[in-house]
Amino acid sequence: GAVRLERVVSAVVGALEPQARAQGVTVETALPDDLPAVIGEREELAQVIQNLLANAIKYGVPAGASAGRVEITAGTLRRGPVAMPQATRADCVFVAVRDHGDGIPKEHLPRLTERFYRVDSARSRQLGGTGLGLAIVKHILNRHRAAMVVDSQVGGGTTFTVYLPRAASGQQLDDDPPGPSPRPARGNPAAA
Ligand code: ATP
Ligand code: MG
Repeated sequence: GAVRLERVVSAVVGALEPQARAQGVTVETALPDDLPAVIGEREELAQVIQNLLANAIKYGVPAGASAGRVEITAGTLRRGPVAMPQATRADCVFVAVRDHGDGIPKEHLPRLTERFYRVDSARSRQLGGTGLGLAIVKHILNRHRAAMVVDSQVGGGTTFTVYLPRAASGQQLDDDPPGPSPRPARGNPAAA
């Protein structure tokens, strides 16, 4: 179905708010009002945003600092990155999760989405986790014919940007309440 990302993002931000507050991280969301819907499964896309935001909160406070800031932005593109399958690359929607943490050394970037892969720093070991979050993200994005691009500077922070195929206008929203018709009520033979 079609999914409104702004709804997904605000639900996930709300769910992770206590975690962010506990880490001293402020989450700023700035999505355009007219962001088009994307093609996908709402719950799966929520999982993607949740894993990226959880990482940004966890790794977004620089060593020795006591506060951090995470920004979530979104927009549209006439042409997505080459990492995206050719079939869905035109007219896509992106969501970017940006933090200002310690960043990731370049040599680790290609392996981040491998299962159990963790950048071997005392800090990430101490922060805990299993190293599955980004592997799950990658799996979901592949199913969506979507892509993710990571941009990181050591000492500057990290941005994970997800690119998703845009839904055709008029496509049924995944989060629409089921209408009175044309779907017959389940388990009610009289309505069939
Ligand atoms: P889990 O998500 O299973 O709790 P995890 O966060 O360690 O554990 P991933 O989300 O897959 O696992 O991330 C893999 C590794 O990539 C992390 O251990 C961390 O080293 C690095 N990483 C991920 N996101 C960031 C980020 N925003 N800033 C710095 N490093 C990151
Ligand atoms: Mg994680």
